[in-house]
Amino acid sequence: MSAKKTAVVTGAAGFLGSHLSDRLLAEGYKVIGIDNLLTGDLRNIKHLEGNTDFEYIQQDVTKHIHIPGEVHLVYHFASPASPIDYLELPIQTLKVGSLGTHNTLGLAKAKNATFLVASTSETYGDPLEHPQKETYWGNVNPVGPRCVYDEAKRFAEAMTMGYLRAHKVDTKIVRIFNTYGPRMRLNDGRVVPAFIGQALQGRPLTVFGDGSQTRSFCYVSDLIDGIYKLSQSSYHEPVNIGNPREMTVLEFAKAILKHTGIEQPIIHKELPTDDPKVRQPDITLARTLLGWEPKVDFEDGITRTIAYFRDFLAIKS
Ligand code: NAD
Ligand code: UDP
Repeated sequence: MSAKKTAVVTGAAGFLGSHLSDRLLAEGYKVIGIDNLLTGDLRNIKHLEGNTDFEYIQQDVTKHIHIPGEVHLVYHFASPASPIDYLELPIQTLKVGSLGTHNTLGLAKAKNATFLVASTSETYGDPLEHPQKETYWGNVNPVGPRCVYDEAKRFAEAMTMGYLRAHKVDTKIVRIFNTYGPRMRLNDGRVVPAFIGQALQGRPLTVFGDGSQTRSFCYVSDLIDGIYKLSQSSYHEPVNIGNPREMTVLEFAKAILKHTGIEQPIIHKELPTDDPKVRQPDITLARTLLGWEPKVDFEDGITRTIAYFRDFLAIKS
């Protein structure tokens, strides 16, 4: 019998799920990664082929999940995550946030496992409080185009709190702010791969609106570290994990041109409906509760991410 603990990661072939699987393996867990490849890519976990501590199961988590044997931790990360993905996949997004969360909570309950759900800064909607603290209830349009994601995640949080209170499952909720790094999908429409891809492929950078809206970008290894620490804590309420360094989208476009060393025009396109005007995490809670702090500065993280996309494009062409 193995002395190693087992963690289940849904969305394991995605950007964050694959990095989380790597971290859990490095921490000495056995990992069962589940994915239906809706927005993920097996290349993200190709390096784990042949690793006897990693098992991949191709399955839709909105259907009943059967895992034989012991499970100690369940991380529910499956969900379309980029605005163009969830606008194209509205029902799948609602289902994985609702039915998928119900099923993975059911798995955690049956196995007496700890459960952590990947929630989002989108639960704050277009925020009227800035920066956003966990105590803020948010400003979400419940029927706008983004509602399928925002409300699915708000439901996922509510369902998670329900299982904590009614079934005493050891649950955690992480509210993830914009995260970037290697293994993002080049064409997922999120601003980081969009601008890097445009620059590297010799196309103008498409800033939506006047570019005065802000985001705060966290490098993936910092985010995963915060999530791992949260899953080991005994705290049950939502916790923001993100990097508070805030910039406008226009500043971000200029930074991409500077760091790629490529000259391209910046063009403006229509701002999507309900695009949040500002976003910045207040991470006081994560700092005090987890002793967590982002360590990778923007210049370093973006250089590593550009290098990844350069390699990715060279291999593809
Ligand atoms: P991603 O699209 O790269 O990964 C999501 C994975 O979930 C994909 O591999 C996809 O195939 C899988 N999936 C989707 N529906 C499924 C289903 N029904 N059954 C099984 N697998 C399914 O996205 P990501 O950026 O890695 O995001 C991971 C999680 O983190 C998501 O829940 C997302 O909402 C959350 N999140 C991410 C960010 C971010 O900046 N990356 C920010 C906030 C929240
Ligand atoms: N954005 C942009 N050009 C693009 C893609 C995105 O200007 O090609 C903007 C988008 O309108 C938003 C910000 O960049 O204000 C971040 O968008 P992203 O899709 O990465 O995630 P969001 O934070 O909106 O969920």
